[in-house]
Amino acid sequence: MKNNKQLRKWLDDLNLSHPLVIAGPCSAETEEQLLKVAHELKETDTSVLRAGIWKPRTRPGNFEGVGALGLKWLQKAKEETGLLTTTEVANANHVDLALKHDVDILWVGARTTVSPFIVQEIADAVKGTDTIILVKNPVNPDLALWLGAVERFYEAGISKLGVIHRGFSTYQKSRFRNNPEWQIPIDLQNSFPDLPLILDPSHIAGKRDLIFDLCQTALDLNYDGLMIETHPNPDKAWSDANQQITPEKLAWLTKNLKIRKPESNEKEFKNQINTLRTQIDLIDNQIMTVLGKRMEIVDEIGALKKDNNVAILQVKRWNAVLNRMILEGKENKLSEEFVLKIYKAIHQESINHQKKVIND
Ligand code: PEP
Ligand code: MN
Repeated sequence: MKNNKQLRKWLDDLNLSHPLVIAGPCSAETEEQLLKVAHELKETDTSVLRAGIWKPRTRPGNFEGVGALGLKWLQKAKEETGLLTTTEVANANHVDLALKHDVDILWVGARTTVSPFIVQEIADAVKGTDTIILVKNPVNPDLALWLGAVERFYEAGISKLGVIHRGFSTYQKSRFRNNPEWQIPIDLQNSFPDLPLILDPSHIAGKRDLIFDLCQTALDLNYDGLMIETHPNPDKAWSDANQQITPEKLAWLTKNLKIRKPESNEKEFKNQINTLRTQIDLIDNQIMTVLGKRMEIVDEIGALKKDNNVAILQVKRWNAVLNRMILEGKENKLSEEFVLKIYKAIHQESINHQKKVIND
């Protein structure tokens, strides 16, 4: 699956001059609602109409979707507007019904990606079809589980694939409904650069006013597209009302986002970036040299501890070093979190060095 341009052919074939936009309501509610939003979205950068037909709800008693009936409305919206369509599927029966109604793209929801059994059931159900599958990240921050789901589809012969980053749930309250944990999709992008990566800012944000900034961050990170919950009357939505926006707001948003070019050939830019990168390379070399020197001294201390039969770990000294470096970090505009991470790693390497010296 690695380095496989085939994975993104479906996206390249759309020939878009901007990132892919998937928009539409959290849930299909009525025929009128869905057709109204579809026609309004047709006038924006949207290529794909989304609508939840079966809604996985964390707690029972909330609106659980209109069911198969809504697929007819989705089909009608597609016929009337020419937009592609997508919906969430969570079992083989959903797949069967969605494909019977010409749904172009099926997405696997966050609560489904966590279950390899269900993912496999869905993969078996789409086997032999030409469907495009988008896999949302699992609710828990686990890259392997996310990739595992994608691989199940790939192994079932589905090569039109993509992933949707919708954030990760945490027990602690944060400003987001689901924490973005950007490092996880970045790691995924580094390992599978051809797998289209789409941001779902709506489920990360949980509220409208965070959506724009999330989209901009995604574009700065070279994401391939956005999936944004859009409703003709967001406040009256039957599900996820706080995070949905109007088609008008969506149009404003896509106009105001800055699309960064992955590369630039402009001479001046290239010169400047080369100079700066050379500087970074030199500093990186210095960092390695200094760390190597630090470890040489650590080894000397290790030998001294061995001669005097003293334990490797000296908690008091370690805490003193850490506190001093946190202050030093502040002076140099480095966050405490960052300094802690670096020093924990340095300390671990020092312990490994001394263990070797003492046991030699
Ligand atoms: C949705 O897209 O409406 C949805 C239920 O998403 P998720 O699976 O990300 O919670
Ligand atoms: Mn939703």
